[in-house]
Amino acid sequence: MIIDPKTIQSKAMETLAYLVSVIGPRPAGSPQEKEALDWLEKKFQSARLKTLRLPVRFQPEPDFVPYFSIAAAGFAVVALTLADHGWVTLLLPLLILLLPEGTQWLQGKVIPYKDGSSNLMVLPEKTSLNELDLIFCAHIDSARAIPAGPRIWKKWRDRSMYAMMRVANILIIPGLFQLMGLDIRGLILNLGQSLAWAMAALLLAQDIYEILSSRNRFSPGANDNGSGVSLLTATAITQADGPPASLKIGFLFTGAEECGLHGAKQFAAYMDENNLHIPVVNVDMVGAGSGLRIITRCGTIRPTLSDPGLNETIKRADPIAVYHAAPRRWGDFAPFAKAGIPSAHIENVGTPHSWGTYHTPDDTLEVIDPEQMEHVANVILQLIWILEKNKSNPEK
Ligand SMILES: [Zn+2]
Repeated sequence: MIIDPKTIQSKAMETLAYLVSVIGPRPAGSPQEKEALDWLEKKFQSARLKTLRLPVRFQPEPDFVPYFSIAAAGFAVVALTLADHGWVTLLLPLLILLLPEGTQWLQGKVIPYKDGSSNLMVLPEKTSLNELDLIFCAHIDSARAIPAGPRIWKKWRDRSMYAMMRVANILIIPGLFQLMGLDIRGLILNLGQSLAWAMAALLLAQDIYEILSSRNRFSPGANDNGSGVSLLTATAITQADGPPASLKIGFLFTGAEECGLHGAKQFAAYMDENNLHIPVVNVDMVGAGSGLRIITRCGTIRPTLSDPGLNETIKRADPIAVYHAAPRRWGDFAPFAKAGIPSAHIENVGTPHSWGTYHTPDDTLEVIDPEQMEHVANVILQLIWILEKNKSNPEK
């Protein structure tokens, strides 16, 4: 059956509007996350698709991570010790460098697990998991919102890591003078201490502003990831009436992605235990921008790689898609890749506006570009078509 991408796009836009405007923000383990999955499950069941619900244990996102306060404390210690212990300034850049991965690692260690999230797996009628040729995946939950804030604040936030590093490196100069036994009392010491105190105050103010304005606020998650969920929902339902002749496709909607990829981790472990090596294509934040990008790797020190073969097939489905490495963001493809399951991740390049609303209360329907939704619907259909052709006619 030939399916028009427009059909999928218009169904997806309806689903997206319901998810964002009626259900709203969907934090991991919340009644809204459950409501969204229940609502989707009913839709799939009425389309005579088979559904499985799998409970997910997760670590909730803490109310607040004192990210900038830790850096502020570092600057304050430098201000207090500069007169007598210049060597302390040498440790400051190290502290700043370790902050992103360090706070993440710590959260993973100390936050207790709780029940209440779940994954929804959707299969063609009378099909079992081990018969699937491909799984499309999208996370249903939405993230804790950082405040949308004034533009100047946002600019500062984007560059704060860089600014902290810059100032920390400048402070090493008086620190080294002191270490070499030079008398820095007077102008140099005053300048150094003032700079360190100013930075500490700025970073502390940053954290206080974030605590006050982000408390119990979550992103409505239109682009991240209502866009992926609604496109996959529309594809699954449209295909239920005329599935590909031989290709069997499953659709996985994961919970608790934003607080540590918990849904995907659990499903990947399940696949691993049951020796299921089904390729997984993750679709996340595809609602705005000028086209798709195929994520090749995440992380820096020990990067997780997506599957080159699968990436090539996606590139055939969308020749204008670009390859992209994401050093500081992670996605649901990663737990599958780590379990040795071929997996890929597509997202849209986004726009300055869509990235400005990333994980904020402003990630609403207004961010979504219907034309891009249609483009991604087309790419998904092309990908299915290519894989179906490969399976039914492997010689060509
Ligand atoms: Zn996402």
